[in-house]
Amino acid sequence: MPLALYDTWSRTVRPFTPLQPDHVGLYCCGPTVYDHAHIGNLRTYVFEDVLRRALTLNGYHVRHVVNITDVGHLTSDADEGEDKMEKGSRRTGQSAWDIAERYTAAFIADWHALNLLEPTLWCRATDHIAEQITFITALEANGYTYRTTDGVYFDTSKQDDYGFLARLDRDGLQAGKRVALGEKRSITDFALWKFSPADSTRQMEWDSPWGRGFPGWHIECSAMSAKYLGPWFDIHCGGEDHIAVHHSNEIAQTQACHGTRLANFWMHGHFLMLDAAKMSKSSGDFLRIQTLVERGFDPLAYRYLCLTAHYRSTLRFTQEALEGAQVALDRLRKTYASWPLGGAVDEDFVARFDAEVNQDLNLPRALAVLWELVKSDLPVETRRATVDRFDTVLGLNLAGWQADSFDIPADVAVLVAEREKARADRNWVEADRLRDALQAMGWQVQDSADGQRLSPNDKG
Ligand code: AMP
Ligand code: ZN
Repeated sequence: MPLALYDTWSRTVRPFTPLQPDHVGLYCCGPTVYDHAHIGNLRTYVFEDVLRRALTLNGYHVRHVVNITDVGHLTSDADEGEDKMEKGSRRTGQSAWDIAERYTAAFIADWHALNLLEPTLWCRATDHIAEQITFITALEANGYTYRTTDGVYFDTSKQDDYGFLARLDRDGLQAGKRVALGEKRSITDFALWKFSPADSTRQMEWDSPWGRGFPGWHIECSAMSAKYLGPWFDIHCGGEDHIAVHHSNEIAQTQACHGTRLANFWMHGHFLMLDAAKMSKSSGDFLRIQTLVERGFDPLAYRYLCLTAHYRSTLRFTQEALEGAQVALDRLRKTYASWPLGGAVDEDFVARFDAEVNQDLNLPRALAVLWELVKSDLPVETRRATVDRFDTVLGLNLAGWQADSFDIPADVAVLVAEREKARADRNWVEADRLRDALQAMGWQVQDSADGQRLSPNDKG
């Protein structure tokens, strides 16, 4: 069965055909690095990772670009409030630049703990100020901008179909507006460039044709996706909260500059909810991967939990659900590790599994096929080879798991994952530092051709 995906633009599941044979351009909106990522954010990246693996399964070469928002994301979507980075700086006493550095590194560690595939390219907003200024200059030349005393704004009244992605009721919005518009002409207009306050210096600010200041949040994604994937590429992803504002504004900008809606498919992951409320970083009280690790869970148990819900349904997080996922993962690992190598895959099971994956990433059903296989009476080496094949999409790293790792505390497992990344990057200084850190925690690592082997110090 060929791959079919749900496209938010058309509100349909439709067959996926790449714009260029065999190649797929995939852009995923990345984190705003003013604080740790919460497990809700990470659910969206797990969905995107599964999408990427499914594309690879279908034989495509994926160019996967993820941005890092390290400037311009204000505390209010209405272009008011503080820059989240400068606010993070006040909260911690560190500079905005140090905050960005620190939380980018923390995010990438979470990324690896969840066994997410390394993107082809990470790109930071602050490394692409010139591209954003060039983009805004083109919007200005095309007549889509106006200035106010605090910045340069996009004039959404110039586009009849502004907000189509969100099926936005513009007239209703404008009529029911509760927030003061200030100098904005319409409630949906948004900042492209904001001026630094006249009476103070920002930590992050740049010169521009319009004055000293910083870019609005949305322009970075239009500018960087065009630079790295071209102005018309295959798939753009993010969480469902991005549909109404961030992605609608990306589309408005790119339409006005390049005449495209960026991507052929727009895909959105639905939210992880905690106690019926959306989990938000700005509430200051949220669950991180590290929190789960401190409670004794393996990060990959959280990944497993994400796979049990379709990406287009809300997932309510509970401790019990995570415990269930940890039990299921442990059982799968133990059973799998007891089976010998050397079998060939079972083609019928592979076809059934792939059909579920290709039906808009139906991972809950794909997991059901996995368990049916595990419990089948096929030869155990056939089951093992087939599970290996499934794991290219599930990403549970079953082959990398060691039987004795049941006793490895999760905080040790996180360091081992970080060290794996350091080794892959040939960052030997970091790899040695992590080896010493593990040693101090009572664990030895030995490097071999097929990876790291971990053992408690007393076992040598
Ligand atoms: P941010 O760091 O706030 O820019 O968000 C990073 C990503 O996480 C974006 O794709 C958001 O849409 C997504 N996101 C935010 N909150 C949640 C949530 N509770 N569940 C799932 N995804 C989320
Ligand atoms: Zn974006």
